Amino acid sequence: MSAPHTHFAIALDGPAASGKSTLAKNLAARLGLVMVNSGAMYRAVTWKALKENISPSDNGAVVEMLGRITITTGVKENLSTIEIDGEDPGDALRSEEVNANVSAISAIPEVRVLLVNLQRDYLQGHSIVMEGRDIGSVVFPDTPYKIYVDAAEHVRAARRSQVGEIDSVAARDAADSKRNTSPLVIAEGATVLDTSDHTIESGVDAAIDILRQQGLPLSRP
Ligand code: C5P
Repeated sequence: MSAPHTHFAIALDGPAASGKSTLAKNLAARLGLVMVNSGAMYRAVTWKALKENISPSDNGAVVEMLGRITITTGVKENLSTIEIDGEDPGDALRSEEVNANVSAISAIPEVRVLLVNLQRDYLQGHSIVMEGRDIGSVVFPDTPYKIYVDAAEHVRAARRSQVGEIDSVAARDAADSKRNTSPLVIAEGATVLDTSDHTIESGVDAAIDILRQQGLPLSRP
């Protein structure tokens, strides 16, 4: 039996454009942790399938692809990285095509099993802030540190258009919340943090207050 590791995970879940990524990045920087973007993993598999002209609704073809590709995850400057068959998808992860197809790919159970294992592997080497949809409910259900990040719908839509991205956030949220496997839910034990009226700094402060209440030992500034 291996010795229990001392690393811990902070789970940040929530709908698209709720402010999770910004909060996760800034929280990780403030606490000296690694930020892991689990959505980038689902996006990378989607990017690869589209590159191979595989239809995201063709589960069999996607599963066949999973069996022959090599997914390499890592950490660079305290942020997670991902390559598929040695290639970093880069900005293509946020393309309109990937936005439109990622919910279909992420609903395939075999995709989730593979990526959840890679997500859990991060804890072997690092304490992490991981953001996604099922981090507190499925990936790390035993972590006491869970925040469900939310924001008003008009705030979320404005955030996406501000960065010039074409992304039907509402359609993605509906698909992510209604799927059978690991739908977006408020995980048991999670505290809801609404970022609508927060600045980046005040959002991080609010998250740190929640984590303290959840028992994370943090010294006062
Ligand atoms: O977080 P982001 O918007 O980049 O996630 C892209 C998509 O990946 C989500 O819409 C969802 O379909 C999927 N996803 C997921 N589970 C996660 C993270 C992302 O199903 N833990």
